[in-house]
Amino acid sequence: MISSEFEKAPCALCGGIEFAELFKTRDYLYGVPGEFSISRCKSCSLVSLNPRIPEEHIASLYPDNYEPYSMSFSQEMLSKLVAGQDGRRMLLERHAHKGFALDVGSGDGRFLLCLKQAGWRVAGCELSEKSAAFQRDSLGLDVKAGSLLSSRFDSEIFDAITFWSVFEHLYDPLETLAEAKRVLKPGGVIAMSMPNFDSLERMFFRSKWFCLHPPFHIYHYSPKIMKTIVAEMGMSIEKVYYSTTATSLINSMKAALGRSSIMLSEAYHVDPSETHDAVSDKTISKATKRLVFNSLIVPSLKTLDLLRLGAYTNYVIRKT
Ligand SMILES: [Zn+2]
Repeated sequence: MISSEFEKAPCALCGGIEFAELFKTRDYLYGVPGEFSISRCKSCSLVSLNPRIPEEHIASLYPDNYEPYSMSFSQEMLSKLVAGQDGRRMLLERHAHKGFALDVGSGDGRFLLCLKQAGWRVAGCELSEKSAAFQRDSLGLDVKAGSLLSSRFDSEIFDAITFWSVFEHLYDPLETLAEAKRVLKPGGVIAMSMPNFDSLERMFFRSKWFCLHPPFHIYHYSPKIMKTIVAEMGMSIEKVYYSTTATSLINSMKAALGRSSIMLSEAYHVDPSETHDAVSDKTISKATKRLVFNSLIVPSLKTLDLLRLGAYTNYVIRKT
């Protein structure tokens, strides 16, 4: 990556142009070349990738095997992927009235299918045209190709809008959140998941933290800054769920050890036990791995979540 391909951008939250560099990092997941700077806005403290690759060029850098776009699966695999979304569905249903839901960045359609099977009416929008076409043609879902901003849905039609592992990829998070508010019914909810920049894992691994995911994650959020952003939109955070999985921990350890990591599941699961297979060691049996994971690792990860230091956050935002 040569420096002329980068752009410096003002802070999305306050428009500030002065930043303090926290550290430099690399893409440990897909091996996009170059060194990337993670900086904190001196005015409002929002953390960003800055300088960054311009939005019009970023799409070409997503690899063909980017995990949310894995569309070559059997019916059996599809059923498993859909069932794997139950944690997110249950989280949403704890807060939202079952009605019409929009999934922003619907990927391969697995969450929309999960909701549909549970009796929701669903729609999606997805930047990848190929993926949007797959969801329409192969899965029979109502999915537009494009961003939430370009999709121009009617006002106040959705009971729930979800952004699973999407918000941190956005170049225009505040405009997108404002648009979500416009198309959401009064009393509706927005649910989103994203890495937690104030997590113990991020503080420990610093530049080797797997969830930095440059150059694709543009802004890095914490519950504190999200509270400011949501208040700026005239909405409020109803609940923050913390969630730590083994996936990012193991991938960060690999990065720290200098090993490239191609564990493609971002695994922003509500239940950490879903990712037990992420513990990979051919020398021990699967049963032993599961025993070790369930007795030692899961309780440790759940403790982090109770202390609000978990690696991922799931926010429920209500439009009043
Ligand atoms: Zn700022």
